[in-house]
Amino acid sequence: MVEDIFCRIIKGEIKADFVYNDKDFVAIKDINPQAPIHFLIIPKKHIEGIDKIKPTDVNLLGKIFIIAEKIAKKEKISKGYRLILNEGEHSGKVVPHLHIHFIGGKKLGAKIVN
Ligand code: AMP
Repeated sequence: MVEDIFCRIIKGEIKADFVYNDKDFVAIKDINPQAPIHFLIIPKKHIEGIDKIKPTDVNLLGKIFIIAEKIAKKEKISKGYRLILNEGEHSGKVVPHLHIHFIGGKKLGAKIVN
C-alpha cells in the first residue's frame, strides 16, 4: 500500500486540525481553505479513489453523509454546505486517498464548475 499524506495524518505522524474522529473516519480542516469552512472527510481505510471502491466498501462510504450532518451540527453550520469529491486528472485531485471536501460558512456561488 502506498502511504499518502492522509494515511500519515490518520496515524498521527503528521499534525492536523481534527473536527471529527471515529473508528472509520476522520475530518480535518483543509490546510488551504477555499471558503470560511473547508473540512476534508476522510475514510481511515486507504481507498485510493472512486475506481478502487469495492462493493464491500459501500456501507462504510454511506456513512459519509451521516458524518457530514454530525459535523454540521457540531460546528453549528445551519445554513448548509457543499460536498465535493475530486477524481482523476481533470478534477485536479492531488491526494491519492478518497476524501470529500465539506465547504461552507458563506453563500457559495451558484456555479459548481468554472
Ligand atoms: P484534492 O485536490 O481533492 O486531492 O484535495 C486535497 C486537499 O488536501 C487540498 O484541498 C489540500 O489543501 C488539502 N491538504 C493537503 N495536505 C493537507 C494537510 N497536511 N492538512 C490538511 N489539508 C491538506
